[in-house]
Amino acid sequence: MEKKYLVLLYYHYTKIENPEDFREKHHIFCLGLNLRGRIIIASEGLNGTVSGSKEQCEQYMAALRSDPVFEGIDFKVDSSDIPTFQKMHVRVKDEIVNSSLSHTDPNKETGIYLEPLEFKEMKDQDDVVVLDVRSNYEHRMGKFKNAVTLDIDNFRDFSGKMEELKDECKDKKILTYCTGGVKCEKASAYMLEQGFKTVYQLHGGIIKYGNEADGEDFDGKCYVFDNRITVDVNKVNPVVISKCYVCNEPSDRMVNCANQTCNRHVPICEKCGDALEGACSEECKSHPEKREYDGTGYYSSQMNGYNPYKGLYRKKTEEGKALRP
Ligand SMILES: [Zn+2]
Ligand SMILES: [Zn+2]
Repeated sequence: MEKKYLVLLYYHYTKIENPEDFREKHHIFCLGLNLRGRIIIASEGLNGTVSGSKEQCEQYMAALRSDPVFEGIDFKVDSSDIPTFQKMHVRVKDEIVNSSLSHTDPNKETGIYLEPLEFKEMKDQDDVVVLDVRSNYEHRMGKFKNAVTLDIDNFRDFSGKMEELKDECKDKKILTYCTGGVKCEKASAYMLEQGFKTVYQLHGGIIKYGNEADGEDFDGKCYVFDNRITVDVNKVNPVVISKCYVCNEPSDRMVNCANQTCNRHVPICEKCGDALEGACSEECKSHPEKREYDGTGYYSSQMNGYNPYKGLYRKKTEEGKALRP
């Protein structure tokens, strides 16, 4: 059965002359298409994930592809039964991924692209190190077999870990990967800058690898930044690597603790979920703020009369009075 929504994941490093102006126009454009999601705009490019109907998403992709500024933009397309976002955020930031590597410019130098099938071909060779550039909460849910992972809570800490990798890996072939490819652009650029000899990157990340190489040898699930929380990528030899927060048995059932004030985001197996009514502990189970557990562990956030045009109206009334800092 065809799923109802498409989910797009995309980025493009390109010069955006006036990010604030672009933001405003792009936000209105997205709302006109009735898309929901999150887009970050910086003078170095754009990074986004949005969802909507097939028609809406196709219109969006066609518009970006036909804009010379985004020539060659690559979309990872997934489908979903649930709306993966409730709101539409379009924000301007210094970088399209918070990295502490703002000096690197992937358009000047970056790791060599490997398409999913090329990556699959190369990843098990002797002189190759497969490097997961993502953070703990991501690679603990899933990663490539034999991948080297980093003990980091945020991508900003990536560069600080390179010194310890250097001795062992400097002369090997490094294959980096992340969710959709955007982090690898800078991660691989930085590694080259630090003297690693040969650095490749998985183009389009785990998501594209799932679509084009059936996710072979990816253990566990891939963490994503929307309501789905994780997605399956491996259709060939899947295994579960995450453990139930309560009983420590293998489980990849990501939930939020039913206690609103805890809201801990962890895997909890079905059995423990039932026993604790969706809470992560006995304390949370008896907490007055515990929400009704419907067996999913998913609680839609309060929309509180969310009006997607609100921010835009506000800006209009302020126009001419004060420019943003
Ligand atoms: Zn359990
Ligand atoms: Zn809890």
